[in-house]
Amino acid sequence: LFCCLWAVIVDGEYLKYKDPKQPMVTRIKDLMNRMTLEEKIGQMTQIERYLASADVMKQYFIGSVLSVPGSVPAPKATAEDWINAVNEIQMAALSTRLGIPMIYGIDAVHGHNNVYNATIFPHNIGLGVTRQRIGAATALEVRATGIPYTFAPSIAVCRDPRWGRCYESYSEDHKIVRTMTEIIPGLQGDLPANFRKGVPFVGGKSNVAACAKHFVGDGGTVGGIDANNTVINSNGLYGIHMSAYYDSIIKGVSTVMVSYSSWNGVKMHAHRDLVTGFLKGKLKFRGFVISDWQGIDRITSPPHANYTYSVQAGVSAGIDMVMVPTNYTEFIDTLTQLVKDSVIPMSRIDDAVKRILRVKFTMGLFENPLADLSLVNQLGSQEHRELAREAVRKSLVLLKNGKSASQPLLPLPKKAPKILVAGSHADNLGYQCGGWTIEWQGAAGNDLTVGTTILSAIKKTVDPSTQVVYQQNPDANFVKSNEFDYAVVVVGEVPYAEMFGDSTNLTITDPGPSTINNVCGAVKCVVVVVSGRPVVLEPYVDKIDALVAAWLPGTEGQGVADVLFGDYGFTGKLARTWFKSVDQLPLNVGDRHYDPLFPFGFGLTTQPVKMN
Ligand code: BGC
Repeated sequence: LFCCLWAVIVDGEYLKYKDPKQPMVTRIKDLMNRMTLEEKIGQMTQIERYLASADVMKQYFIGSVLSVPGSVPAPKATAEDWINAVNEIQMAALSTRLGIPMIYGIDAVHGHNNVYNATIFPHNIGLGVTRQRIGAATALEVRATGIPYTFAPSIAVCRDPRWGRCYESYSEDHKIVRTMTEIIPGLQGDLPANFRKGVPFVGGKSNVAACAKHFVGDGGTVGGIDANNTVINSNGLYGIHMSAYYDSIIKGVSTVMVSYSSWNGVKMHAHRDLVTGFLKGKLKFRGFVISDWQGIDRITSPPHANYTYSVQAGVSAGIDMVMVPTNYTEFIDTLTQLVKDSVIPMSRIDDAVKRILRVKFTMGLFENPLADLSLVNQLGSQEHRELAREAVRKSLVLLKNGKSASQPLLPLPKKAPKILVAGSHADNLGYQCGGWTIEWQGAAGNDLTVGTTILSAIKKTVDPSTQVVYQQNPDANFVKSNEFDYAVVVVGEVPYAEMFGDSTNLTITDPGPSTINNVCGAVKCVVVVVSGRPVVLEPYVDKIDALVAAWLPGTEGQGVADVLFGDYGFTGKLARTWFKSVDQLPLNVGDRHYDPLFPFGFGLTTQPVKMN
């Protein structure tokens, strides 16, 4: 007990809230009794990293900081750079009157995708196929950069692939999404058996607080338009879109992020019945609810609504921490006035602050506010890359194998005189990773981060005597005049995120179709599709000998070659229906007109080739 008295006695006064021997409720109560309105509203405010100067942190008692992909302390920042940057902000928070630690949050949605050299796992759409949970490895890499909180997992149930965030969804089937919430204990640590449902839980210094998002119905919007209206009855909302929230809360998820979308015309950011009534009331969620990026600014109904209305509606709905990355002074002033005018009762502010402090205490941030260097080697470690490679192998879905079942093309022989590798996606790490990788929208090219492209993986896999010829978009004559044994054509979608990925045609990006036309037919070909969702394939299927859905596999392209060449078998089953044409959308199992190209659950298998 006496060891830590120096920390809990300040200027002769015993500060109960600083004493780890006290129960958490006592500590929270003691701290809240000492806090001014300004300090409380500061706790509710989350701002962007590059604006979080020491002066701002101290002046506004800022409770949380975030950064989005692309907002980095330095180009190609290392784990040490990140730790230094995060600690500097934390030192400013700790130097305030009460010394409440800030919590730094980041979108680590397929590995620590903000940081150069991190392991990038397949996006959720691929993980939904594998049922593989990679939470613990992601947590270690995020903690390696001094960050204790990730805005993941997305537990959206994407019902329409035209949605630009479909790849962030594990499946169109809520039962698969529910099982994938096992990623939460992976990120946060295993909930002790006696822990009470609804209470946030974050295990140790190698775990991070998770965030189930986006509450609720984000994957059900009309036409798959991002942040649009989800028109569905209560049975549909609770049965399909809400169900994974039950699991997340039982597993102790620390935070829930509200969706930009609306339910039957009411913005989720203003939906008091669902956020306060259902999530906090019925489901007894005790963690904190966070808004989306400037989410409350989007509360615009009724007509003539202004910012004051938006803040009032959002905070009254039950949002506890408000992501106001740049316009934080406006938010703080507005909320302060609303409380002073008794429009928002103090009890609402206290509820919000209590929840935020509960997560901070649970995480041990009061005892261990500063990041250390002990985990830096976890970033992009060999072990994590192996795990990602395994996830890639398991995420692949074999949709066609040979012109007839008796003449399968896959697995490909490693030993062949000459093979052709073609397509815009064969040698492009950025394309493999997709959106939310280093940049918000992702980017093209092999300099983006460290990893293995499918082309380089193929070169490493084939027999040394095999000649691999790479041509991004060969013309038909080139293909015909060279006697290739077979060709691997890798095509797909180029990276996008959020509304920038909304699409009504879902085609393969040019020149992908012409590459398929020039190669397939002239030589035996396997087409590997790198995409965030099913795309239009029907016109090509007859020409193609073998067809593989690889989703957005991330940095470990070797996993694709492992399976193509038979070191492992194909095992994946579609976690999404593969439609024939966009006119069929949305298309769900059980629909009267369900007539897909490949049904939900489809996937051919191959056996691994025995090594001699
Ligand atoms: C997205 C969220 C994300 C947030 C912070 C928003 O635009 O909708 O999913 O967590 O930005 O980057």
